[in-house]
Amino acid sequence: MSISPALDPATLVADRSRAIDTSGIRRAFELGATLTNPANLSIGQPDFPVPEAIKQRAIDAIREDHNGYTLTQGVPVLREAIARHMAEDLGWVVGENGCDLMVTSGTSGALLLACMALLNPGDEIVIPDPYFVVYPALARLCGAAAVYCDVHPDMRMTAERIEACLTERTKIVLLNSPANPSGVVLEEAEVERVARLCAERGVVLLSDEIYDAFTYADAREGGRCPSPARHDRNVLVVRGFGKTYGCTGWRLGWAAGPSWLIGEMRKLQQYTFVCAPSMAQIGAAAAFEVDMEPIIESYARRRDMVLEALGDLAVIPRPGGAFYAYLEVPERLGLDCEGFFQRALEKNVIVIPGSVFSRRSTHVRISYAAPEEMLARGLEGLRAVLEGR
Ligand code: PMP
Repeated sequence: MSISPALDPATLVADRSRAIDTSGIRRAFELGATLTNPANLSIGQPDFPVPEAIKQRAIDAIREDHNGYTLTQGVPVLREAIARHMAEDLGWVVGENGCDLMVTSGTSGALLLACMALLNPGDEIVIPDPYFVVYPALARLCGAAAVYCDVHPDMRMTAERIEACLTERTKIVLLNSPANPSGVVLEEAEVERVARLCAERGVVLLSDEIYDAFTYADAREGGRCPSPARHDRNVLVVRGFGKTYGCTGWRLGWAAGPSWLIGEMRKLQQYTFVCAPSMAQIGAAAAFEVDMEPIIESYARRRDMVLEALGDLAVIPRPGGAFYAYLEVPERLGLDCEGFFQRALEKNVIVIPGSVFSRRSTHVRISYAAPEEMLARGLEGLRAVLEGR
């Protein structure tokens, strides 16, 4: 079958698609695929299996023929489980004080729907620098401008730093704690100030808390991950199941916040994602009953391994959560992040150059979501690079 005349991508492809690049993470990944048995410290997903109770419920759901569309906002059994968790964790009661929630296709789905619901062309969204790679793309997809809030060197997106970025065009402030790529966790007093600032200025605080369960004991307050949602009912909280329970491929997250905003997002979901995968939703209803503490503790130990191995040779803001450390390439090496990335590759170690997450090229991201043996090998390689060996 021939296609004639040929379609011309140069005239056909939309500006929004042109405005975004393939993720730089994938490039590191592809380079890594050429190595034999590398210490791969580039991966942003956990290395443990999905807890059995969750797997079993998802399998049962398929067998019991729960394979059709669900309600746009999510299956009742999962919505109820999330609502109970929110009441316990955030003190929010769904259905009261105009608070609502919806289940989304991954945390990414929630972030995109929120931006689509709020951003007009020309509007501004304040994002941290360094950022999760999707954040600038979200702005571009909506024709909006990302305003970069520089959080170097301590990686704390404080109210003071945010305030300097606000203009009359700001619609959203996007906060991410625990953060990707730094793992830094803000304190409760810091997130409270951010919530107050956004409320005073009439902008939506979108709190990406995908790593909330991966907050280590030393960064928790009152046993919990600090959240601005405890201080203001107008915060839009997004969280996910993928990282916490090792099911990133199930594409499952949720958003909670003011009902007018959830209502807009639900409408947009109806015409885009339709609903999150049915069997994944039913499986995840078992999630909040699973004790993840032993796994979180094992990740805290890996965090300690990173700091012990490299902390005397480079500046690494202390990660309080997630599974990343963001290392500043020491000036004495005379390398930018690309140069460091290449040296690490020569030692058979894959990290991610910070230019993927930032307008600066001074850092690299180390993911310690890797088996301890591989992590130890990787850290030895990175020590060698840092010592100029
Ligand atoms: N936010 C942050 C900060 C992330 O690191 C990620 C995944 N790497 C996401 C959102 C997207 O998660 P999901 O797979 O649930 O869409």
